[in-house]
Amino acid sequence: MTKYNGRGVAPGVAMGRAVVAARDARDVRYRLAASGVDRERQRLRAARDRTRQQLEEISARVSRTVGPAQASIFAAQTMMLDDPLLVSRADALIRAERINADWALQRAIEELHGVFAREGDAWLSERVGDLADVSGRLQRNLRPDQDPLADLIRELEPPVIVVARELPASVAAQFDWTRVRGLVCEVGSPTHHTVILARSLGVPVVIGLSGATQAITPGQLLAIDGMSGEVAVDPTEDVQERWKQRAELARAALSALDDLRGRPAVTADGVRVVLEANLEIADEIARVLDAGAEGIGLYRSEFLLDAGHPDSTGEDAQVAVYSGMLAAMAPKPVTIRTFDAGEDRGDVAWRTGGHRDRFGLRGIRSGLQHDERFRTQIRALIRANAATTRATGAGTLRVLLPFVTSAEEMRDARRMIAAIAREAGLAAELEGLPIGAMIEVPAAALTTDALAREADFLSVGTNDLIQYTLAVDRTDERLAGHYEPMAPAVLRLLRLIAVGARGEDRPLSVCGEMAADPLLVSLLVGLGFRRFSMTPSAIPIVKRALLALDSREARTLARHAVRAASAEAVHQLLLPIADAMHARAVGQPENG
Ligand code: PEP
Ligand code: MG
Repeated sequence: MTKYNGRGVAPGVAMGRAVVAARDARDVRYRLAASGVDRERQRLRAARDRTRQQLEEISARVSRTVGPAQASIFAAQTMMLDDPLLVSRADALIRAERINADWALQRAIEELHGVFAREGDAWLSERVGDLADVSGRLQRNLRPDQDPLADLIRELEPPVIVVARELPASVAAQFDWTRVRGLVCEVGSPTHHTVILARSLGVPVVIGLSGATQAITPGQLLAIDGMSGEVAVDPTEDVQERWKQRAELARAALSALDDLRGRPAVTADGVRVVLEANLEIADEIARVLDAGAEGIGLYRSEFLLDAGHPDSTGEDAQVAVYSGMLAAMAPKPVTIRTFDAGEDRGDVAWRTGGHRDRFGLRGIRSGLQHDERFRTQIRALIRANAATTRATGAGTLRVLLPFVTSAEEMRDARRMIAAIAREAGLAAELEGLPIGAMIEVPAAALTTDALAREADFLSVGTNDLIQYTLAVDRTDERLAGHYEPMAPAVLRLLRLIAVGARGEDRPLSVCGEMAADPLLVSLLVGLGFRRFSMTPSAIPIVKRALLALDSREARTLARHAVRAASAEAVHQLLLPIADAMHARAVGQPENG
């Protein structure tokens, strides 16, 4: 048995067989059961046939439009498909080593590159580009419709634990999560969308285990603890038994909070606080209801773009998803955030391989550039709300616009939404539909009062607000130590937001990850926030903290915190609350 320690970012304990995905989760490796060998060989043959057909079509087209000489490049690539060192070699590896087709093909390609390099032959070295082309095409054709990792997981015996260098949210969204029990990543961060998703599904995650994709062999048994960050590889029977007990304890601690689910969140001195849930996958709405959420405070609709096929975001398909959510939650409110996606999500990512463009064309900026995707979504949202209103007599939808930078931008966005509704004959249906703004850019925070006049409600995205305030990329693990929710600069902005929204009498909530941390929620209550939206499993934990909190003490604490010299000084201020919470969690008397 070997033990590693990373950083636990999504609590829970899990055991399962490793699926290793190197290079941004596109290179998947797994050992096959004897019964899986034929299926993998068949996939390889199908990929070769599909590749051959595509190359012949391209060759014919080039020959017609450009000329036969240029078409011969593709004829040469077609011949490579019959090279005994490529597809046939991969086939032999599947049989001999019982490895999946993707892995076998990758091995054959690497060996062939080695041969090319060793021979030092000019003709061969000119063929390196062709080899890369044809092997890339073969690899894509192994899984033509799906992300290879998501597809593979569907075929494996559960439970599995995915080990990846970095797992893009667009890939994670396609997983069958009933099979994936845990995640181990070399890089990542607590506010990475993949981690947020796993947390909301109750799947433990350990990040920061550099070299994990090399050190862990596909098929090895893993035990992971998403709280402590421990990862045990090939645990002995004894250790497995201890980990099972650990998992049982974690489950028992959560079910001890069950009786809180039906109770409203009220502080010890009687201040009512509203707790709503964040949601990423529409089908997971049962978790929201089970947690006792008072509504959905944030549905990250861009996860729809990752469903695996561009058709899943057609207007009617979206109406069905949104109406289903509204019906399941009625009469509780549902906040749907319009796609917070730049070029890293959805159909564009399909073509480019995806790249998160943090400062580029994302959120409402993308919508304002006459993005057809935004127009379709707005029509679908209005139609879904209208259908629910007809069925139940009251609309429960709230539309939230991400990445708003200024009051003027909000005004433009509303104008555009009104125009989209008019063009679609939905102007009457739009009336009364609340449209709110995310505050997650410092410029928006600094002008909350002006923004509040243009928005029906506001929701603070602390994940991005912290990132942009402190100039710390939230997904860059090298900067993890600088990503600090308690930084006085962040707290001052939060106070400004609370004061600005109150002055305009606008509903205000916090939906970033800060809202899922009971200690930070105490501070936020002190700053004046009364509404929070968080991952469902955090709701009872935050509620328990609020029941014991005195809001007047929290206010005094917050006053000191915004004037503190450093995040460390804020930590010190919060220590007594943290100690009291800990004592309650382990069942000790608080002042004994
Ligand atoms: C945020 O930025 O805090 C937020 C809630 O949005 P996301 O995490 O999806 O960027
Ligand atoms: Mg955000």
